Amino acid sequence: MIKKYIVIGAGISGLNTARKIKDLNLGSVQVLEKSRGVGGRMATRRAHDTRFDHGAQFYRLKNDIVDLHQDWKQLGICHQWFISEKGDHWCSKSGMTAFAKAMTKDLDISLEKEIAAIHYENNLWKLISNKNEVWFCHNLIISSPTPQTVKLLTDAANEKRLDMNVLSEIKKINYTKALIGLVTLEEDLMIAANGYIEFQTGCFFSISDQRKKGVSDIPALTITMSASFSELEFEQSDEFILEKILKLFVTDYPQAKIKKAELKKWRYCKSESQFKNLFSEIAPKLYLIGDAFGGSSLLGALRSSQALCNFLIENNKVL
Ligand SMILES: Cc1cc2nc3c(=O)[nH]c(=O)nc-3n(C[C@H](O)[C@H](O)[C@H](O)COP(=O)(O)OP(=O)(O)OC[C@H]3O[C@@H](n4cnc5c(N)ncnc54)[C@H](O)[C@@H]3O)c2cc1C
Repeated sequence: MIKKYIVIGAGISGLNTARKIKDLNLGSVQVLEKSRGVGGRMATRRAHDTRFDHGAQFYRLKNDIVDLHQDWKQLGICHQWFISEKGDHWCSKSGMTAFAKAMTKDLDISLEKEIAAIHYENNLWKLISNKNEVWFCHNLIISSPTPQTVKLLTDAANEKRLDMNVLSEIKKINYTKALIGLVTLEEDLMIAANGYIEFQTGCFFSISDQRKKGVSDIPALTITMSASFSELEFEQSDEFILEKILKLFVTDYPQAKIKKAELKKWRYCKSESQFKNLFSEIAPKLYLIGDAFGGSSLLGALRSSQALCNFLIENNKVL
């Protein structure tokens, strides 16, 4: 069946866009996601008898997220974690993916569908997965990190349709990498009064106490390494990286009694620069959204999605 809209990616920007298209009756919409679950970089992992948020740790309560925040409050899935000079920080005791899951109600989402190629054929966008499954749609929305998007777009057959100036701008957007240690401890460790600390220099970016946050019932930490450490060590073996992270950690926190640990790697963590507009129609009926367009945070990703939704509503693209 031909869909009016297909969204590639079930991160917060893709889900919010699909949600709005459905709720506002703009037409049929399907989400295709390569992973086994929804949320993208808003990610929670079950490991070592507990849960860890290993992507985004919180959202800051600002205008862009106020409507979703009210929905999540009504569902009872969000709680205030702490307030600092940077703002009012909210998270979910069920882990950050709870927010993504709450956005999926009645949406047509297909998981484990990795789109490997797109072509424009007979006035439709044709999507082909890595397992040779095929979908067609009138309007295609791509929400993956821009280096992954560029890979999908740079096909000789597509390039005739693409705005090459936009493509060359998008190619310039780099992402930081992130190496993360997920660690359980024999006993609680005082990291900070509120359970979250960010570092301005050195090898760590942040340490987040998953028990204080309410995500874990046992002492557990998410240790996010700095962008420079992550860039330097990313291609090393997992064992080597994890050992190095744990060595650095116990040097700074000698009282820590580590029980179990594992590594998580993000090749695309945060965009280092932002595209000049909140979304891009890089070819007719082919839209790009995500944090590289709205700013490198959950709020930025939402801002981008919202801008596209406003555009679709205003233009009321009836086909
Ligand atoms: C370690 C880390 C910590 C962070 N901390 C915070 C924080 O505390 N607060 C905050 O606000 N932000 C934080 N961020 C940033 C925030 O998580 C992102 O800005 C936001 O989640 C991006 O959402 P998105 O929808 O743009 O992209 P994503 O969440 O990346 O969604 C894109 C989706 O597309 C899918 N996809 C990609 N290619 C394909 C394909 N070919 N076919 C099908 N599917 C595909 C991906 O699997 C993914 O699910 C953090 C990010 C990381 C990595």
